[in-house]
Amino acid sequence: MKIKDILAKNEPTLSFEVFPPKTEDKYESVEKAASEIAKLNPAFMSVTYGAGGGTSQYTVDIAAALKAKGVTPLAHLTCVSSTREKVHSVLDQLKAQGIENVLALRGDIPKDGKIENDYRYASELIAEIKASGDFCIGAACYPEGHVESVNKTADIQHLKEKVEAGCDFVTTQMFFDNNIFYNFLYRIREKGILVPVLPGIMPITNKKQLRRSMELSGTAVPQRFLAIIDRFGDDPEAMKQAGIAYATDQIIDLIANGINHIHVYSMNKPDVATAIMNNLSAILKVED
Ligand code: FAD
Repeated sequence: MKIKDILAKNEPTLSFEVFPPKTEDKYESVEKAASEIAKLNPAFMSVTYGAGGGTSQYTVDIAAALKAKGVTPLAHLTCVSSTREKVHSVLDQLKAQGIENVLALRGDIPKDGKIENDYRYASELIAEIKASGDFCIGAACYPEGHVESVNKTADIQHLKEKVEAGCDFVTTQMFFDNNIFYNFLYRIREKGILVPVLPGIMPITNKKQLRRSMELSGTAVPQRFLAIIDRFGDDPEAMKQAGIAYATDQIIDLIANGINHIHVYSMNKPDVATAIMNNLSAILKVED
């Protein structure tokens, strides 16, 4: 099923994200975690793409395994470290597996600066996927601005180029303050970006994860969340409970304000995905 059709139903739903293994010996445990999350019957599940594309096969394999379990998969695909030939070989594999949804990304510039010359920006990849088959295409967006962008206005202009190139929906970078998301939504709607926007919520369940996430994304952490880290950061079980509660609270606020679909960065953690789903069972009308 195409994600744009799932979103058009406009019912409160969650989707979850998993990341593929870096090495073959970890494949089984990642597939097991993904299958556990799939049992929660989310609206769809996304599978990230390893930087550089060296592990692209695992993205396709996990996405295909999810499809076999009856969950709609969204396969991520990055381009900046890939040749056109590599991108098309992944698209061919997705088609062969009947995977209809692709999240088209540029990918981070590697630390050594070495990139291929075929693509510079995600908008070029989106246009190419659009011309390559009947895919439903998603893209990334950044409520606080992408770390490399000169300012938010330029970043929103580039987001518009991605939508014009053919993307059907966008998913946000994580944020911990919903007002940042509401402001962003207002600004992009004003610029004529009208596709569905899926807020990406990251449940922070340990102190180290927060530091890593902030380094990668530059996401602002509100005082209210910093207080949680201060108080519970050194008590793993308490931190996990507080992190899940904080993410649940963000999701409830989003749904209460009319944002029906939320994407959860569940990071291969079935226990976290399950706890969030249970916290929201009546809101999401989950049947036993
Ligand atoms: P782009 O949209 O190409 O933007 C990159 C930068 O270039 C931005 O600053 C933008 O403003 C600027 N820009 C765009 N077009 C132009 C232009 N024409 N002229 C000048 N500047 C321009 N990474 C992975 O490796 N694998 C994943 O699976 C993955 N999944 C992600 C999922 C989500 C929801 C998000 C938010 C991020 C994900 N990332 C992933 C990280 C992503 O690859 C990085 O954030 C990357 O640095 C930017 O990718 P993009 O697709 O947003 O790039």
